[in-house]
Amino acid sequence: MRGLARAVERLGVTIFEQTEVLDWAPHRVMTARGTVAAPVVVVATEGYGAALPKTRRRILPLYSLMIATEPLSEETWREIGIEHGQTFTDFRHLLIYGQRTADNRFAFGGRGARYHWGSSIRPGYDNVPHVFEHLRRTLVNMIPAASGAAVTHRWGGPLGVPRDWHAAATFDRASGIAFAGGYVGDGLSTTNLAGRTLTDLILDRDTELTRLPWANHVSPDWEPEPLRFIGSNLGLAAMGTADVEERVTGRSSVVAKLMGPLVGH
Ligand SMILES: Cc1cc2nc3c(=O)[nH]c(=O)nc-3n(C[C@H](O)[C@H](O)[C@H](O)COP(=O)(O)OP(=O)(O)OC[C@H]3O[C@@H](n4cnc5c(N)ncnc54)[C@H](O)[C@@H]3O)c2cc1C
Repeated sequence: MRGLARAVERLGVTIFEQTEVLDWAPHRVMTARGTVAAPVVVVATEGYGAALPKTRRRILPLYSLMIATEPLSEETWREIGIEHGQTFTDFRHLLIYGQRTADNRFAFGGRGARYHWGSSIRPGYDNVPHVFEHLRRTLVNMIPAASGAAVTHRWGGPLGVPRDWHAAATFDRASGIAFAGGYVGDGLSTTNLAGRTLTDLILDRDTELTRLPWANHVSPDWEPEPLRFIGSNLGLAAMGTADVEERVTGRSSVVAKLMGPLVGH
């Protein structure tokens, strides 16, 4: 993040930190410190957009949490079989992901933290002891060689989930408002592609990027509460159940098939 900030500042961009955006309108951004006029406004607030009036129904914040172990020895890493730069996941429904960090820790994360009423976002929501413990147990079950490693870091944050689980990069020339987001937790490199897609859309270039399915894609809105609360938490519970069902039966989950449209399958 800091490297990116340095790179854009080298290109002449001024970054204003600690400036909360309250709302936006064509060619204007209203902040807690005053209104900024701009020919183009790019909305890229991802999961945090759920707290803003114009994107409240457009994006749902779904928490993902991670743990990291103490650094593991070369010998343990040889046994585990993961090289630097390699990441992995598996085919369970309640997603998990892992990687070896540059300083040889095992970083391991997943979904499973519940959705909060009204799409609320609070610092405490990314600190859920039972989810951290679930992650630790899952890691040890999958990778017994990591079982003796102490967990030294725990963190998390809200992912941005659109109603159809379809990321988008959009630009409306009349209002000057652009939007990029809805990556459902796969945004680290997708944001780069979104930036390049938006550049071409804003500069009115016809390129292979502006012909991608996500260019000017508009997702439907999420349902109002209480449907959003019930549906999201039901979806999370169903994915956990589907994983147990597949473990027990050894076959594709019926629950997952029924819940497919809700959870983006
Ligand atoms: C625990 C965890 C693990 C993840 N792991 C991976 C991974 O392995 N690979 C991967 O590809 N992705 C991963 N992601 C997802 C990835 O972090 C996001 O997809 C990516 O950060 C999205 O980038 P963004 O710039 O669109 O949004 P964000 O990084 O969420 O940035 C949004 C910015 O908007 C600012 N903002 C929000 N509201 C306001 C406001 N009102 N006023 C002013 N500023 C505001 C925020 O401060 C923030 O800086 C993970 C996410 C989490 C939480």
